[in-house]
Amino acid sequence: MKKVVKFGGSSLASAEQFQKVGKIILAEESRKYVVPSAPGKRFSNDIKVTDMLYECYALAETGESFTKELDRIKARYQEIIDGLGMDLSLEEEFAVIEDQFQKKAGTDYAASRGEYLNGIIMAHYLGYEFIDAATVICFMEDGTFDEEKTQEVLSAKLQESEKAVIPGFYGAKPDGSVKTFSRGGSDVTGSLVAKACHADVYENWTDVSGFMVADPRIVKNPAVIDTITYRELRELSYMGATVLHEDAIFPVRKEGIPINIRNTNAPEDRGTFIVESTSKKSEFVITGIAGKKGFTSINIEKDMMNSEIGFGRRVLTVFEENQISFEHMPSGIDTLTVLVHQPEFEEKEQKILSGIHRLCKPDHVELETDLALIAVVGRGMRSTRGTAGRIFSALAHAHVNVKMIDQGSSELNIIIGVSNDDFEEAINAIYHIFVTARI
Ligand code: ASP
Repeated sequence: MKKVVKFGGSSLASAEQFQKVGKIILAEESRKYVVPSAPGKRFSNDIKVTDMLYECYALAETGESFTKELDRIKARYQEIIDGLGMDLSLEEEFAVIEDQFQKKAGTDYAASRGEYLNGIIMAHYLGYEFIDAATVICFMEDGTFDEEKTQEVLSAKLQESEKAVIPGFYGAKPDGSVKTFSRGGSDVTGSLVAKACHADVYENWTDVSGFMVADPRIVKNPAVIDTITYRELRELSYMGATVLHEDAIFPVRKEGIPINIRNTNAPEDRGTFIVESTSKKSEFVITGIAGKKGFTSINIEKDMMNSEIGFGRRVLTVFEENQISFEHMPSGIDTLTVLVHQPEFEEKEQKILSGIHRLCKPDHVELETDLALIAVVGRGMRSTRGTAGRIFSALAHAHVNVKMIDQGSSELNIIIGVSNDDFEEAINAIYHIFVTARI
């Protein structure tokens, strides 16, 4: 059994958190490769080390003094080292960093030092080998990620190393300059390491006990999802649910390696398993609910539209020409509705409307703003009767007016459009009917 374990910033924010992490890693012989983030927030209005580094480097770049800011970062690491009672000095590392900042080594270099230094501490603490991600995570000259080369270099390196710490978030281009993934990118590093060493599981340790059925900011104490498929996860993350960096899924998915989301502060919890496919039924009919506010619908009416060949194409051409991607397109006999993101649409509203008039010659165009979309997702819906019925009766009881319905052809999701003001109420009503009441 071989596991790759990735720890997020809040799991490594202080010496106390490091101790919990150390215990978790050493509790199982199989936890061979460790991917740490930079120290995150210790309390709610604390600042992440990555953000401190961005701020510090912004000063360096404009030629201003950044000593005070760098000292604060040093203090964050020193607090961890002292708290762990370790005999380790980062003085030389910081001298190099200061020099590189003065030489304007770049924002990516600056940001990556958070993971780099945390990796050194972690390797020292565990007695594992330290592998600088710049030597094994490869980017191309133009900054795009080099999947093939990374797989080759990283797997060769891991074969030589039985237990190692590989800092998350960054790699390097062929000329050696550091390049980071987008924010939250340590998840991606973890996934690449899992793929390269053919891990049995990729454990992603964070500060929640898994992926929840609904957003805890909307539903009080939501249940945790036990097992979710990649496709379900994709539907839910697209609609705003966040736990993992989106790009973290692809490397492990190709290899069929499950991701297990775990809680550093409650290691006894089983967490959520994200898998390619499963015969396991989800505990409830639905797997999860997610949603987003801020959509606009453009309702286009034209007599005999249904027999006018090319009408849909002409409507979509207008959106394409204006570089607006559409979310959904429910249609009636003589009506067609396009749902788009409100802020993007607002910028180009008049151009789009005149385009529709010019190309489609509609009888009537009507706009409705401040809409929210809710996705009810679940592999179990396919084989269960009455799911839609239950959703809509729950919404009716909650006095929520449904403005749009769209069921994906995969029967994996039902998308519901409501007004922004009804968003929270609607999610609670759907959650209640399937999870609390289990009807
Ligand atoms: N430390 C980086 C960030 O704050 C990357 C990560 O934590 O995954 O975005």
